[in-house]
Amino acid sequence: MATMKAVVFRGPGEVAIEERPRPTPGPGEAVVRITTTSICTTDVRIVRGEYRVPRGLVLGHEPVGIIDELGAGLHDDFTVGQRVVVPAITPCGQCYYCLNGSPAQCGGTTGGWRFGHTIDGAWAEYLLVPHAAVNLTPIPDGLSDDEVLLVPHILSAGLAGIEAAGVRIGDAVAVFAQGPTGLCATLGASLRGAGLIVAVDGLPERLLLARRFGATTTVNFHEQDPLVVIRGLTGGRGVDVAVEALGEQRSFETALGAVRAGGTLSSLGVYAGQLVAPYGTLGSGIGDKRILTTLCPGGRERMRRLLALVASRRLDLTPLVTHHFALDDIRDALELFGSRRDGVMKVALHPAVRSHDRLLGESRAAALVDDGA
Ligand SMILES: [Zn+2]
Ligand SMILES: [Zn+2]
Repeated sequence: MATMKAVVFRGPGEVAIEERPRPTPGPGEAVVRITTTSICTTDVRIVRGEYRVPRGLVLGHEPVGIIDELGAGLHDDFTVGQRVVVPAITPCGQCYYCLNGSPAQCGGTTGGWRFGHTIDGAWAEYLLVPHAAVNLTPIPDGLSDDEVLLVPHILSAGLAGIEAAGVRIGDAVAVFAQGPTGLCATLGASLRGAGLIVAVDGLPERLLLARRFGATTTVNFHEQDPLVVIRGLTGGRGVDVAVEALGEQRSFETALGAVRAGGTLSSLGVYAGQLVAPYGTLGSGIGDKRILTTLCPGGRERMRRLLALVASRRLDLTPLVTHHFALDDIRDALELFGSRRDGVMKVALHPAVRSHDRLLGESRAAALVDDGA
């Protein structure tokens, strides 16, 4: 039997590289050979045991690769050898939720998130893609893996936080946390024509990137109280839309407190444990505030539109791909990403590269910090 290497979750704090059977596609399924994948804060939470997934699962949900094998029913639309992205969220396109406008919730709450959550994911040499006709998305010619690596999850999620909130031209928007998803929300606010875009974080290099991505004001919460700054810029009212992109209770509360009466909190964080909306910041429950939660939209039509945006060169996400590792060096990669050291934003993982080969691109983080000096 053909095998492949894969990174498997064995329990809190424990991942292992294992030899696994190489998947074979059934009808409507495809196998993609992974050329580049990435680590997400969600993966770090899973590895730490803060967000539960079954033991024995292959992790990872940000796949870029090449179609290796197609199951029955796909040969009219796809060819072996085609470069594709596969969305982090893989809806079936046919169930109650998919047909009622909530494809990310395919089959039930958070059900569209399958890779590295309920089925084997992308931290492997090969990935079995379910509902492939709905999800495989060809990459336009001329785009590199680095240019599209954030499309399957991070770009889709960050922009969705802005789209879900219905940001209008000229609106005041605040984005709490400028990690990769928060930066893509900042970018989304800029693309939608927000008038005021306040980016909040505690790391200077992330605030520098936020400026590049369209923030009009940056707030380092170690130096200034974001709520004081936001009230000062909005006539004391608060912002029309606040995006929470961290997934922690304290950040959620601050973001809700930054929203004007009648405004919207758009939450993108994946929370571990309890999440409460406090009485005061909710206007005693009658402040006409809306709280929206959004799981990253998937499906190939969403991916196609995002790839078109990348191909248009109206945005460049490559400054966020700061580090490259062989998949074999997953522990080093997780340690670096989890510690937020060395200006790390996103770590690219390459299954085909040998262990401990130091890859190009590590200098990019240093270059960004230099730019800020
Ligand atoms: Zn992710
Ligand atoms: Zn469905």
